Amino acid sequence: MRLAGRERPAPSCSVAVRAGMVHHRGYHRPLPPRLAARPPMRDPASFIAPAYLNIGESLVRELSKLMSVPGMVSLAGGYPGPELFDRDGVREAADAALRDMPVACLQYGPTDGLPGVREAVAKLLAARGTRCSPDDVLMTGGSQQGFDLLVRTLLAPGDTAIVERPTYTGPLRVLKVAGVRTLTVGVDAHGLDVEELEALLRDPATPRPKLLYVVPTFANPSGATMPRARRLKLLALAVEHGFVIVEDDPYGQLRFDGEHEPHVAGLVDEVPGSKQWVVHLGSFSKVIAPGLRLGYTVAPPDIRRPCVLAKQLDDISSPGFTQATVQRYLAAGRLDAHLPTILGAYRERAGAMRDAIAQHLADRVDFNIPQGGMFMWGRLRDGTSTRTLLPHAIEEKVTFVPGDIYYADRADAATMRLSFSTPSPEQVREGVARIGRAIARMHA
Ligand code: PMP
Repeated sequence: MRLAGRERPAPSCSVAVRAGMVHHRGYHRPLPPRLAARPPMRDPASFIAPAYLNIGESLVRELSKLMSVPGMVSLAGGYPGPELFDRDGVREAADAALRDMPVACLQYGPTDGLPGVREAVAKLLAARGTRCSPDDVLMTGGSQQGFDLLVRTLLAPGDTAIVERPTYTGPLRVLKVAGVRTLTVGVDAHGLDVEELEALLRDPATPRPKLLYVVPTFANPSGATMPRARRLKLLALAVEHGFVIVEDDPYGQLRFDGEHEPHVAGLVDEVPGSKQWVVHLGSFSKVIAPGLRLGYTVAPPDIRRPCVLAKQLDDISSPGFTQATVQRYLAAGRLDAHLPTILGAYRERAGAMRDAIAQHLADRVDFNIPQGGMFMWGRLRDGTSTRTLLPHAIEEKVTFVPGDIYYADRADAATMRLSFSTPSPEQVREGVARIGRAIARMHA
């Protein structure tokens, strides 16, 4: 129906637009939706897509800023010890890469990665008992990008994923941005509780998950490692219920005591039908250097293909220079040669932390003591929130990460993550002693 002339707002300056209404000589109408939705002033801050509002700054990053405070001992960061970087080895590998593979280093390259580095990754995994073809490997900007590509290509808003409770914060945020419904399964000293997972999957009220994200070895933050039996059970559940296991393994090579567990991806031959359900994410961040920003995703063809497409949209390819450098580094045997140095240092630091915990915290905090990785996970026995403890700790000049940030739901606020990778053994001892003083101060 056409508006009568009198009702139609004249394009004059006497037309007032307030609160989504047009007001003109006794005529009051809602603005057309296109105009009503428009903010009164255009402001780039108002353009931000809803998914990216309120995803929160990473507390770990905030805490890492305190690292520059003189005298502060940081047990918060999850960074490799910077003095442990194999600077000479990386420099020589970079020189060799530029000298021998200048075009691969400097030209655009294949989205899935340089063939030579994909071969090297397949060899690296074979040495750990996981068979894959270089064709299954996709080189990524760290393991973090691998997970983002999987979520973007496999999950639509409203789909369901399962994560550990607690789990690494990166995937929690990726899933949140993607609008994915995230369910959780508890973790004990032996990692993901597969009995709880089975009960969740069997519950008819549980929406069918498409994906389960797990860090089976020296998990961030729990430090826990799943034994072989749990890994096999997880594979069997993936086959039975039809979900993709995303095995994130940035810490697996950092075992300084005990025997290696096989990758979940290394057990697929023992569980018929499971190969198509497993994706393995690896990284050079913790064993060479995170500044290289190089990791890899090993996935069945149907999953890998869309990830390559998504990566093409992201960054075309991971940097040829760092890929060629890593290829040269591995070919020169530098990883095997240097890893014992890193492991020796982490063994000493973890030992210092274990002893200091026994001395200063044993009557107040329960701890999970791992045989590798970078983290120890604790819980204040009286249930006090570690957020309450943190300001006292900062006054004592020590930082840790309050555990609640690692939960998608049912957060246990009494938990905390301590990292032993960056501080020296002396700093570890002093840092733990300061946490003991902070707890005493909090209760004073
Ligand atoms: N996964 C886990 C469990 C991590 O702890 C981290 C780093 N803190 C990452 C992935 C990210 O690793 P990358 O540098 O390979 O992206």
